[in-house]
Amino acid sequence: MRPDILNPLFTESAALKGVGAASIKPLERLGLTRAVDLAFHLPVSWIERQRVRRLAEAETGRMVGLVLTARDYRASGSSRAPFRVVAEDEAGERVSIVYFGRNSGWPRKLFPLDEPRFVSGRLDRFGDDLQIVHPDHVVEVGEAGTIPDREPVYGLSEGITNGRMRDLVTQAVARAPALPEWIEPGLAARKGWPDWRAALNVAHEDPAAKAARERLAYDEVFASQLALMLLRASTRRRRGVPIAGDGHLRDRLSLPFAPTGAQRRVFGEIDGDMAQSVPMLRLLQGDVGSGKTLVALMALLNAVEAGGQGAFLAPTEILARQHFASLQAMLAGLPVNVAILTGREKGRVRESTLMGLADGSIHILVGTHAIFQQAVAYRNLALAVIDEQHRFGVSQRLMLTGKAERTPHLLVMTATPIPRTLTLTQYGDMDVSRLDEMPPGRQPIDTRVISDERLEEIIGALGRHIGAGRQAYWVCPLVEQSEDGDEAAAEARATLLKVRFGADAVGVVHGQMPGPEKDAVMEAFAAGRLKLLVATTVIEVGVDVPNATLMIVEAAERFGLAQLHQLRGRVGRGDQRSFCMLIHGQALSETARARLALMRETNDGFRIAEEDLRLRGAGEILGTRQSGEQRFRLATPEQIQSLLTAAHDDARLLMDRDGGLDSARGQAARTCLYLFERDAAISLLASG
Ligand code: ADP
Ligand code: MG
Repeated sequence: MRPDILNPLFTESAALKGVGAASIKPLERLGLTRAVDLAFHLPVSWIERQRVRRLAEAETGRMVGLVLTARDYRASGSSRAPFRVVAEDEAGERVSIVYFGRNSGWPRKLFPLDEPRFVSGRLDRFGDDLQIVHPDHVVEVGEAGTIPDREPVYGLSEGITNGRMRDLVTQAVARAPALPEWIEPGLAARKGWPDWRAALNVAHEDPAAKAARERLAYDEVFASQLALMLLRASTRRRRGVPIAGDGHLRDRLSLPFAPTGAQRRVFGEIDGDMAQSVPMLRLLQGDVGSGKTLVALMALLNAVEAGGQGAFLAPTEILARQHFASLQAMLAGLPVNVAILTGREKGRVRESTLMGLADGSIHILVGTHAIFQQAVAYRNLALAVIDEQHRFGVSQRLMLTGKAERTPHLLVMTATPIPRTLTLTQYGDMDVSRLDEMPPGRQPIDTRVISDERLEEIIGALGRHIGAGRQAYWVCPLVEQSEDGDEAAAEARATLLKVRFGADAVGVVHGQMPGPEKDAVMEAFAAGRLKLLVATTVIEVGVDVPNATLMIVEAAERFGLAQLHQLRGRVGRGDQRSFCMLIHGQALSETARARLALMRETNDGFRIAEEDLRLRGAGEILGTRQSGEQRFRLATPEQIQSLLTAAHDDARLLMDRDGGLDSARGQAARTCLYLFERDAAISLLASG
């Protein structure tokens, strides 16, 4: 239960003064649905107002405040042209105050002729003219003092102004209670950090309040580290079943290749973990194509050999089906029963799978998160493998381990390489294995970076590629600010390409398509009936079609490098030479250019992750899209990096002294976990 003291912060934004139907929508778009969200909505920048007496003293390009007197109005006939108030400062120098798109009644009312007003706004120079476009304040001269010299600027969304946002944030911050201190006192003193409530207040008032912001960020990092430690401690307190397969199934596996050294090493690490009665909690990081599926299979067979069951969880329907197919193929002739369960298996099929799981006749279940739903009961779940972890969060991990009487061993696999320094924030509760060696014979993918001005040439090259009997992907970017925009972009692109290559040769997949339709298209592509697959990023993970040797990514500069790397990993799966064309828009920034150049330069996912971190300061690596639940709302990636070690050590120390979080500081730390909604782990304390 959340401590009562936090309740005022966890009320709905709608309960704040002056929030009506009109502001709810924009607040929701920004994710600011509760007071706490508003309180943590820190300013993104600041307005510093330069107060002057004369225009001559003011700097153009910045916010100024001064007394001006309207002398004339300039309206033009057209309603599209702006309305101008011609005003003078005390020295008689002129400035135009410009209003777009409003009827002139409003500015006329604000600026009666020959009456001085205090005006604040951005002063700009156009040719010889000074202008202030849409002043942010116009008040009677006597009220000039009510306008602050400095104002926070908040992230906004259409339908809410900065002034309104500021008011709501102020109300929210006023609800913040004084909280007991959870930070180790010596650390807070050394860093010069204020207490939590003071820090929150100052962060909204003073742009120079570095310590305050740092403290708030620290709290969040601390909460996330503590939550991971609680999770780990609770898993380690649980009892699992030691699993040691005798090899009778693995020995009969006939693979067309020998495992790489890295794969062998990881098999060993996993076998070692599974042999313990403490449940395994291991993260496998391996670049796209490094052969994680085989590692999963070996671990699953280890479980089955020892009489247990295995569950293999994929993030999407498409991937679940693909894993199911490849497991069945690799296990052909072996007495291992594999089944699939996704949201789409219904009725009799689903019933019989559920029965097979309950009576143990199904050895391995592949599926989407449906495989951990309430109704799914395993006879003896010994191992759960989660593919592409970044789509799953801590609470899914919890749900999963809560499924069995004995906690199953857990192997989590990710193809998104995370820089070492960041692994701890995301997976601090896990042991880590790396597949740092590619299977032999892989040809590096030839990557080109091309401007969209050359679209015709690109389509020509695509035509030759298809003409030579090969297949290709064409990935359309995510369109921001629109839920179905990416779908529309893909459809539009596909329509165009169908005209060129024939409707029968081109298929489309996107997130909004019904599952069976999506599978049908993927299947047709895998079987070679479709030559070109136009897709949104739904094909991002895992799909394996060896004859597809060309990957085209449109608007590549909008993708994260890790994502581009994943997409590129869709090709280069067979023994044929593969290509990747990264199409970019015009007007690329320096950073965007450098990032794309890096893609051309290297195929090494770990290196790409490290460099992306350097070039972008970690942006999307810890961003919301890829990181499941471990989101950070306050801490910037830079702060996470610089504060992580201290937060980790502090949390460690607290856990060592007071693992039950019973002491006064432990209780305070619980409050911190609730504050940052990392409290799922607290229930583990209670249940032991
Ligand atoms: P990942 O899931 O790590 O992206 P996959 O498990 O899908 O990679 O493997 C990619 C391809 O490499 C598959 O076609 C797989 O059969 C093949 N492969 C896996 N291990 C080896 C190996 N040791 N030698 C040769 N090919 C391998
Ligand atoms: Mg895979």
